[in-house]
Amino acid sequence: MDRSYDVAIVGGGVIGLCTAYYVRKSGASVAVIDKDTYSDGASFVNAGLLVPSHFVPFAAPGVIAQGLKWLADPESPFYIKPRVDMELTRWLWGFQSSCTQENVDRGIPLLRDLALESLRLHDELASLPGFEKIGLVHDGLLMLHNSEKSEKANLDLADLADAAGLDIERFNEAETLAMDPSIRTPMNGSVYFAQDASLDPELFMSAMIGHLRSSGVDLIERAEIVGFDTGRDSIGALKTAKGNIGVGQVVLSTGAWTGIVSRRLGFRIPVQPATGYSITVEHPESKLRIPLIITDQKLTITPMLGRIRFGGTLTLVGFDTDIDENRIRPLKRQAKLYCPDLGSNGRSVPSTRSGFRPCTTDGLPIIGRPKNWTNVIVAAGHGMLGMTQAPVTGKIVSDLLSGRNPYIDIRPLSPNRF
Ligand SMILES: Cc1cc2nc3c(=O)[nH]c(=O)nc-3n(C[C@H](O)[C@H](O)[C@H](O)COP(=O)(O)OP(=O)(O)OC[C@H]3O[C@@H](n4cnc5c(N)ncnc54)[C@H](O)[C@@H]3O)c2cc1C
Repeated sequence: MDRSYDVAIVGGGVIGLCTAYYVRKSGASVAVIDKDTYSDGASFVNAGLLVPSHFVPFAAPGVIAQGLKWLADPESPFYIKPRVDMELTRWLWGFQSSCTQENVDRGIPLLRDLALESLRLHDELASLPGFEKIGLVHDGLLMLHNSEKSEKANLDLADLADAAGLDIERFNEAETLAMDPSIRTPMNGSVYFAQDASLDPELFMSAMIGHLRSSGVDLIERAEIVGFDTGRDSIGALKTAKGNIGVGQVVLSTGAWTGIVSRRLGFRIPVQPATGYSITVEHPESKLRIPLIITDQKLTITPMLGRIRFGGTLTLVGFDTDIDENRIRPLKRQAKLYCPDLGSNGRSVPSTRSGFRPCTTDGLPIIGRPKNWTNVIVAAGHGMLGMTQAPVTGKIVSDLLSGRNPYIDIRPLSPNRF
């Protein structure tokens, strides 16, 4: 055996790194092992929104009808690449079965509580040395509407948010502009989610990587896990591209790849990669303060310390990294509104980056021990909420490893629920 650790965390995205932080804090020796280099992917390119506002599970009534309408529009935020893929077919079946009111009612309190607790933990992390400049701000979030349909969607969401006890306000156009006069997106009103926050994900990831290294966590890169040395019900070692690693406990935080990794251990995790894009414009003179969601086009606009990041799209095209230029166009149009000289005066349009959101069939993350494995924990499937839910996920995993009860009942998040 080349080396061994109390806890090996497979996957060094935001979920794996936050898990490493809490597990190391509890005194264990920890390695994070990643097939890549801790510098790209969903955890770096995301919109950086920390969002109690996203308290309704993605799998909800009406989503499929909307998705089918979008399929016909090449610039829409949603697309499925037609192909023969049994995993995708199974996933779509599970997803449509989860688009029920019951799933929504069960998911709302869970997603709300995970987000609120995670925001509290994000604040704690932000006070660590090295985290001073991650750009964490509590300026809330404005969901803008500009059509009857999106206004109804936002106001319906506002009613649900009221019922869930979230702090929100409904604004007309003038009130919205009074909140942030730099808004350039056409709109006739908004809903304001006061508890939402935002940060710069790349700065967060780099602060966390620095902190983990200085506290003795080994971050092993370019070491894809290609197999496992297993006993009857436990893993003894990870087989990696860089040799074998002995393990006491294993955390699978492999994001959108978790279905592939779990199949090697003989269990099924229904996670599909849902591609999202972002473009980031350097804009030191921008006065935009409050993050925006444009409900009509499902786009995000996040001001980040002298930059603005435009994000969006959710396409089920497998692990395809080709950029779909049609779907980038609405992002670029928004970027032009905020930076009119983009594409001229020597100011080029920045390149598009993409990441795979790990989407589950019911829109809830997966945190817990898979049956038949005594030393494995899955922490994956955070979909469009991984940046938000990473600290609380890491804390829950660390509690499970230390034999403490997590602060909430995590049975609804079990990997065995599918
Ligand atoms: C455009 C976009 C915008 C988003 N905006 C937001 C937002 O505003 N707020 C929010 O909360 N969330 C947002 N998200 C979602 C969020 O980014 C994801 O939920 C989160 O990054 C998932 O983190 P993860 O650690 O689970 O997965 P990843 O970051 O994908 O990390 C998984 C890691 O596992 C590694 N891996 C996989 N297989 C193996 C293997 N066999 N061996 C070794 N390593 C392996 C991969 O290399 C990867 O580094 C957005 C996502 C996108 C794409």
